[in-house]
Amino acid sequence: MLRLEYLAMALNDNMSLYKDDTLFRRVTDDQNTEALGQFNARLDEEPWAVYRLQRAYTPGRRPECKTAHGDRCAKPECRDSSIKGTVYRSVKTVRTGSRTDVGTFLHNAATALDRPVEHATKAHGAGIDRVHTRVRPDSKTYGTVEDFYVTAPAGVQDKARDGFADVWAAMAAGQ
Ligand SMILES: [Zn+2]
Repeated sequence: MLRLEYLAMALNDNMSLYKDDTLFRRVTDDQNTEALGQFNARLDEEPWAVYRLQRAYTPGRRPECKTAHGDRCAKPECRDSSIKGTVYRSVKTVRTGSRTDVGTFLHNAATALDRPVEHATKAHGAGIDRVHTRVRPDSKTYGTVEDFYVTAPAGVQDKARDGFADVWAAMAAGQ
């Protein structure tokens, strides 16, 4: 259960099994150090991966567009960057290895890209390392993209929404 949550949080910052809380934090708060220690030791023994996560948040259509132009409309002027459209996601395994190997790879990549390694702990208690190459200016503006590398246990299948490549190519160029 902890493993599943840890993986979910690594791939998506906002995802945990409890709202405003995480199983990991609950275990910590309960001072269940033995369980935590076992969890970490188990993670050490697993195969790990560096994943690349890309998300393109398209702007939604204005209400008047839906009224005037029906089910489909491709006019850019009918889109509003304050309205949520579709999220095009992609997850890809970049490299696999031991936990130490992928950690080293991520740190070297950060150096090569001249980006910091963000070690997230405060939000959910579990340590998760990420390197962002594209950051959304804010979470309420659409027509924006996000691109990051993260280390987590291996095993997530490569996956992308239909049309991802075209949407990404069009949107990433402008950010
Ligand atoms: Zn329209």
